[in-house]
Amino acid sequence: MIDDAASADLVLRGGRVHVLDPADTRGEAIGVRSGRVLAVGSVTELEPLIGPATTVVELDGRAVLPGINDSHLHASWLGALWPHTVFGGGAPDGPLVSTDAERSAALLRAGELLASLGITSYTEPGIGPGEDAGTTGSFGSAVLDAYRALDAEGLLRARVNLLLLFGLVDGASRTEDILAGIQSARIATPHPERFRIAGVKVFGDGIPPMRSAYIHGGYVDGSHGELLIDGAHETQREANLRTVIRAAHHAGLQVAVHATGDRTIDLVVDAVRDAMAERPADLRHYLVHADMLRPTTVPELAGLGMGATLQAGIAAFTGEWAAAAFPPEVGAAPWPLPALIDGGVNATLSSDAPVLSPDWRTEIAAADRLLGPAEHPRARMHELLRRYTAVPAWQDHAEAWKGTLEPGKVADLVVLSADPDDVGPAGMPGVAVERTYLGGEVVFDASSEPVEAGA
Ligand SMILES: [Zn+2]
Repeated sequence: MIDDAASADLVLRGGRVHVLDPADTRGEAIGVRSGRVLAVGSVTELEPLIGPATTVVELDGRAVLPGINDSHLHASWLGALWPHTVFGGGAPDGPLVSTDAERSAALLRAGELLASLGITSYTEPGIGPGEDAGTTGSFGSAVLDAYRALDAEGLLRARVNLLLLFGLVDGASRTEDILAGIQSARIATPHPERFRIAGVKVFGDGIPPMRSAYIHGGYVDGSHGELLIDGAHETQREANLRTVIRAAHHAGLQVAVHATGDRTIDLVVDAVRDAMAERPADLRHYLVHADMLRPTTVPELAGLGMGATLQAGIAAFTGEWAAAAFPPEVGAAPWPLPALIDGGVNATLSSDAPVLSPDWRTEIAAADRLLGPAEHPRARMHELLRRYTAVPAWQDHAEAWKGTLEPGKVADLVVLSADPDDVGPAGMPGVAVERTYLGGEVVFDASSEPVEAGA
């Protein structure tokens, strides 16, 4: 007789379950109870967990992964723009959302889309007063209110980490505004495991193809880019960027800095080093994009406990364009992912949607192409998948309870039509997402929900 109290609410069995822990544990079945992983093992091992009230799902060879975590995804903007993307073209200019109903509808639409892709967590990188008068309406304080309201109603279909923004998206910011914002930031939320305010997003510079990344060398036209923070001259702007990083660190806020040029990256690392020397804290500040990160900076990132969120698809899309910005002898900046992986830096993969489609499967394929042929294909796949699950959980300060399928962690799961190991990274875009679970509850089922394809 099975003790019902000891049995699972849900068992998925007869496929390949990837725990995505460092040891790359796999099983044929997974059991879930009260929204958490109970066990992963063979079908036989899980048999005793099946009681009269257990829902049993036959996987028939399908694969199960931890839910995908996109560490840099503008859901509010994505929900308003989809099926258009910035790089895909056709995106309308001007305001996208202007009313509470529209803002909330955009977030719900994004939630639906992300659930259909198996994405159960994401970081919304930059919402706040800096964009209250912004053209799109997708990044202002009212979006933060919309998030709070949807969270209160239990309508968020993914776990959200949000970064506050006190300047413009991809634009200028005033030191005074950021400092005032940091001082008055209220980051407590009622259900931080579902909706959490992580810290602050700062736009350091632009992007290399536009010659707006702040660099040590020079572009073809002799310019070297500029920081986006205010200041009468270069030295003042550098000092101001350091000041806001220091202030956020002392306020206990995680700082994510959009930093693409090598000069911006060095400045950010330097500022974090100084802040950590004054007050050591496990805040996990990170670089966003990090296009021109040099291999020599990698050990410093590792030493300071800093991360980076990278978009292989953007690198692939803008590679030639970026190369044209630099003198021929310099060439395009090398993508730092291999160095970061080898250097033990908690670098995550992400889409930056709606710049690109939020489809992580194409991002895995793009990252694999950038890395070149793999000596050990299975280890490569494990590495890439972890940068979309376990490593972003670290960025969220949540590795103790999400990001892998180790027992006790939340049962955020994605069921795929084929095993990633069988298709390899290049075959991932052809693998279907069949079902998504958030905390053990189905939030997407392909058999019942048609999904709008991207443009
Ligand atoms: Zn972005």
